[in-house]
Amino acid sequence: MQSIPSDPQVIVIGAGAAGLAATRELAARGVRVLLLEARDRLGGRAHTQVLAPDMAVDLGAGWLHSADENPFVGIARDFGVDLDRSRAPWQKDADPRGFPVSDQRDYRHSWAQFYAKLEAAEESIPDRSAAEFLDPGNRWNGMIDAGSTFINGVELDQLSVTDYGRYVDTGVNFRARGGFGTLVSMLGRDLPIVTNCVVAKIDHTGPRLKVVTNRGDFSARAVIVCVPTNLIAQEAIRFDPPLPDKVEAAHDLPLGLADKLFLKIEDASDWPEEARLYGRKDRTQMASYHLRPFGNPVIECYFGGAFARELEKGGMAAFANFAIDDLAGVLGSDVKGKLKAVACSGWANDPFARGSYSFARVGKSDQRAVLAAPVDERIFFAGEAVSKHDFSTVHGAWRTGVVAARNIAGISPSP
Ligand SMILES: Cc1cc2nc3c(=O)[nH]c(=O)nc-3n(C[C@H](O)[C@H](O)[C@H](O)COP(=O)(O)OP(=O)(O)OC[C@H]3O[C@@H](n4cnc5c(N)ncnc54)[C@H](O)[C@@H]3O)c2cc1C
Repeated sequence: MQSIPSDPQVIVIGAGAAGLAATRELAARGVRVLLLEARDRLGGRAHTQVLAPDMAVDLGAGWLHSADENPFVGIARDFGVDLDRSRAPWQKDADPRGFPVSDQRDYRHSWAQFYAKLEAAEESIPDRSAAEFLDPGNRWNGMIDAGSTFINGVELDQLSVTDYGRYVDTGVNFRARGGFGTLVSMLGRDLPIVTNCVVAKIDHTGPRLKVVTNRGDFSARAVIVCVPTNLIAQEAIRFDPPLPDKVEAAHDLPLGLADKLFLKIEDASDWPEEARLYGRKDRTQMASYHLRPFGNPVIECYFGGAFARELEKGGMAAFANFAIDDLAGVLGSDVKGKLKAVACSGWANDPFARGSYSFARVGKSDQRAVLAAPVDERIFFAGEAVSKHDFSTVHGAWRTGVVAARNIAGISPSP
């Protein structure tokens, strides 16, 4: 990391993808910039855990979505990081054990019909919840709802059709073997960053902004706030004078929840690689299993929405108990002794995230632009939640950081 400027022109708060992008952009333009991060690590919700040499797992973001136009493809190239371009498991048939191919076809048909109805209604005014478009009595409704908890972090009854319609996904997905979190954190290597620095208040009463932290006060001409919306909504960072429009916008863009559990397989030689498997499929409270990502002897278990929130209360044991029983229901009780929980996320209880990715409450999609708007041309906002088309993603967060940095008017490069 670079030396810390004593009189920064701009302070960036939060070293996730958005904050790192903003800091890099400003530093490249010769602006004296300082990045303050609450944790002892960089990357925020992109966080890789190394389980063994050559076995890294992402507890947060794992996929470079819309990879054919994702800036992280170029970033990976610049850092010499190879990307895996094979098809994502959800784009292939699932493992037929417990899910016969004919049922999969039926399910995919229902899924496609449901999403076709949503797409047809995207421009409808007033906005509606996606659950209104479920086909009453369809046997796959629970599983379609579970799909929303994985993708959006919330059930369909909370999902805004307008917001859904604005999201852009080209359907191309890449991965980094060493972890997406590792790649994101590489971006901080040569930047001036203070870690373990928890920002509590931004005082904008005077001509210079005062940023109050557990490591003392900092001042600058402008700040870029790049923290998750729940921290703004719950006023973990306060503004003086208050900014009620920002707090309200953040309330309208809360973070949904998705969590991951990793199970180690004792002897993985008989297990298929890169396959998707489901246990229970008849309810929203279900999980999705990615068998042996990158050929590693692990299962990535994915949970979302209210179900993940409930399981998080019991920690890794609660996630593991559910997943191992669920897998045994499909694969036989023999697997119980062969699976061991080795890593787990808990994003709802993480004090510096308080959730996984943002969704707009029904009728509130335009609040993304309200949150993005600068205050007095000196308090700027970035992060996945302010992105109109790429919210809930790393590349979306990155783009908003670049935009905020470029929008800082009147900040000329330091002499
Ligand atoms: C389980 C899961 C799976 C996901 N999968 C994908 C995926 O496959 N692909 C994808 O593109 N995206 C995925 N995402 C979403 C992606 O991780 C986020 O959209 C993105 O990382 C958000 O970046 P950000 O910079 O907006 O916020 P964050 O990454 O949350 O960064 C904010 C930073 O602010 C810091 N901070 C918070 N409070 C303070 C404070 N008071 N003072 C100082 N610093 C503070 C935090 O510690 C953090 O480092 C996933 C997320 C989760 C949780």
